[in-house]
Amino acid sequence: MARYIFITGGVVSSLGKGLASAALGALLQARGYKVRLRKLDPYLNVDPGTMSPYQHGEVYVTDDGAETDLDLGHYERFTGVAARKSDNVTTGQIYSKVLARERRGDYLGATVQVIPHVTDAIKEFIAAEVTDEDFVVCEIGGTVGDIESLPFLEAIRQMGNELGPERTLFLHVTLVPYIKAAGELKTKPTQHSVKELQAMGIKPDILVCRSEHPIEPSDRRKIALFCNVRPEAVIEALDVDTIYAVPRAYHAQGLDDEVLRHFRLDGREPDLGSWDEIVRRVRQPDGAVTIGVVGKYTSLLDAYKSLAEALAHGGIANDVKVKINWLDSEIFEKEEEALLHLEEVHGILVPGGFGERGSEGKIKAAGFARQRGVPYFGICFGMQMAVIEAARSLAGLEKANSSEFGPTDEAVVGLMTEWMRGNEVERRNQAGDLGGTMRLGAYPCDLLPGSRVREIYDADHISERHRHRYEVNINYRQILETNGLRFSGLSPDGELPEIVEIPDHPWFVGVQFHPELKSKPFEPHPLFTSFIKAAVEQARLV
Ligand code: GLN
Repeated sequence: MARYIFITGGVVSSLGKGLASAALGALLQARGYKVRLRKLDPYLNVDPGTMSPYQHGEVYVTDDGAETDLDLGHYERFTGVAARKSDNVTTGQIYSKVLARERRGDYLGATVQVIPHVTDAIKEFIAAEVTDEDFVVCEIGGTVGDIESLPFLEAIRQMGNELGPERTLFLHVTLVPYIKAAGELKTKPTQHSVKELQAMGIKPDILVCRSEHPIEPSDRRKIALFCNVRPEAVIEALDVDTIYAVPRAYHAQGLDDEVLRHFRLDGREPDLGSWDEIVRRVRQPDGAVTIGVVGKYTSLLDAYKSLAEALAHGGIANDVKVKINWLDSEIFEKEEEALLHLEEVHGILVPGGFGERGSEGKIKAAGFARQRGVPYFGICFGMQMAVIEAARSLAGLEKANSSEFGPTDEAVVGLMTEWMRGNEVERRNQAGDLGGTMRLGAYPCDLLPGSRVREIYDADHISERHRHRYEVNINYRQILETNGLRFSGLSPDGELPEIVEIPDHPWFVGVQFHPELKSKPFEPHPLFTSFIKAAVEQARLV
């Protein structure tokens, strides 16, 4: 029977609760246990996919097509367990469910209340689809004390009471700040935050204390005494130079031992060899390459979290450090000299994106890469822009554009309905709400024999995750192929171009899907491995 580990956060946000959850999942796995990670998000949006990446970081897409919080990306990268729709829920989704039930009359006229109706729905979510997992690590978003997370905290309190300590554990991530003037670590914020949790009926079993300075035994004892935990359950969590060092650091602090002790389990020592090797490669690379990422939300790096990680994984695979030059695509529209920035990089990547702003700059960057023989990796929007560039420059279709930006006579990129009217193939609902009208989640793709991507993947059929509304128009295949852009990956029905490449170029690949979502440090995505390899070769040339 699964045991539940609830992870809450106190004092301030951005303490890295998601990473703590992911690292604990990885440690339990390394001990031979089967884990599942989940997240409860305390905002009212029903569909996180419509939230601005400026505010909330990237939208992480699962195989089964859910648009989720970026922390699920950490979970998947650290544990390799594919996240599912059932692993992320928002308060908005919980309320929608409860309200729909009420409308249907399921509550038989009862007064519908936060307790028990909302909390029941939360508990149902936490325990749903749990089969043979040994542990469910469940992160509660937000900070203890927020109004928003109250129903979640009440629900996990109830679970703790119903299942007992044998099957539940409460872990609280908190901050132990260092006050320079006093030259001291301060434990008071942690004491207050734990007090707040206890007022809600939750007694934390383990405290993970984020700190910039080592926590001396005297401070540890003080925290333990005031917060009602064992001194061994006060885990020091110092900043580390790479997130992949977190599992080893937590293990050294005894986190997994403490968890197993709580559940009266004795596990074998975890095998952290592969984590140590990853960290070694990150810390002592054999050279470096610079990749220019030409995007829009370059001011908020969380918007490209998985992408940055996947590039790092490509570096790990090639034993090099990958430096990222984040470039706002609009600079290429404003001044011609801006292209000089691209002369300094060893590879150009245009990531996913939405809307017309900055698109001409991305098209220019793709053109630069094509003409100069610089490795080019176009992801989703970046593939679409590369196709438009090729259509304009190679195939002479001057007006080539995407109908995402408005009506166009030459919709090289457009909605499938626009070129398959009356056909049933289009399954998405165009007239529906803004949320949930995209091609989302894993779709199969056939790779062309003899193509570069066939060689990179070393497979004939692949499955990758999508998140987009527009597609490259298959009707332009012939003219583009005649002019040097090969369609090397197609949907099995042959209607949707999934991958394009330029055979006559050192490395030029555009993919309609998001390979970055599936890359892991111990299993770098083949496209990123190959792209960085090409960048290493490029670095030798310049
Ligand atoms: N805006 C484009 C579309 O909807 C690309 C989306 C993306 O890059 N994720 O098709």
